[in-house]
Amino acid sequence: MSRIFSGIQPSGELHVGNYLGAVKNWVELQREFEAFICVVDYHAITVPYAPADLRRRTHEMVVSLLAAGIDPSACSLFVQSAVPQHTELAWIFNTITPLGELERQTQFKDKASRQESVMAGLLNYPVLQAADILLYRADRVPVGEDQLQHLELSREIARRWNARFGRPTGAIGEDGAEEREAFFPEPQAQLTPTRRIMGLDGQAKMSKSMGNTIGLLEPSESIWAKLRPAVTDPARVRRTDPGTPEVCNIYHLHRAFSPPDVVETVHVNCSTAGWGCLDCKKVLHEHMELALVPIRRRAAEIAAQPAVVDDALAAGAARAREVAGETMAEVKERMGLA
Ligand code: SF4
Repeated sequence: MSRIFSGIQPSGELHVGNYLGAVKNWVELQREFEAFICVVDYHAITVPYAPADLRRRTHEMVVSLLAAGIDPSACSLFVQSAVPQHTELAWIFNTITPLGELERQTQFKDKASRQESVMAGLLNYPVLQAADILLYRADRVPVGEDQLQHLELSREIARRWNARFGRPTGAIGEDGAEEREAFFPEPQAQLTPTRRIMGLDGQAKMSKSMGNTIGLLEPSESIWAKLRPAVTDPARVRRTDPGTPEVCNIYHLHRAFSPPDVVETVHVNCSTAGWGCLDCKKVLHEHMELALVPIRRRAAEIAAQPAVVDDALAAGAARAREVAGETMAEVKERMGLA
């Protein structure tokens, strides 16, 4: 069975953007593949943070994931720092990764340009990501398009390690060199089917740092208070102005939450000025509620029983450590380490 690895930052409660863009897909994939789903707290400490806040955000993220349908009996759900082999393998990969390749990563250049003093952890972030994936020898990684460059680096690191430390196969390659076995698979992107969800400002991807999110567990009234003023097609100045649904984030949220006949109605009513944006948003809110009420209910049940979270994480970490331990034993043996 193919293996997948997915990581998510401990950013607290999930928002609709990361639910639709990633987690909803993982809920499907956990039934098809052997899945490792990891809350990546080591990645979160590359920026300043408060320890108590990180612990709270990690817990809230796990509650959200369980409420959204991640099933600990179908996958291994765990927190990264509970499996020490992640940083152990990351160190090893640091020794075979050229500095120039890390400095060329778009996300590093973008984040570093906004910081006065850049920590080495920010530069080495994609090396830890490669370790996260390859520790489980995962052959597929569900990602959005913005993560493709980091995934390519993971593939490159796998190739480089295999070329140096993979066991000789006895065959001679086209370049005349002896071929080596691919201990680490080159992970393939499993592109997330949902289009990138924009924030309520319609300007940027939905993200906590932009303050443009709808929380997955947010109360109904609070969601409506955000939807009501949300940006729509700027061409719809008056109620009688027809719009272009494809340019409007509300339409894309309809596509994620509303049934096909409602999406069709939205398209017709928008492009013919058959209704106003407020009518459209009310219908969206109703359909969002149908999807989100059961998730909110599950989250409340889970939050009332802390043992559910603790047990899920303990079982997931035990399975993750087992696989990670096997990988590291092989890696160290082939590298001449103790
Ligand atoms: S009618 Fe709906 S889809 Fe069209 S611009 Fe308004 S909110 Fe967007």
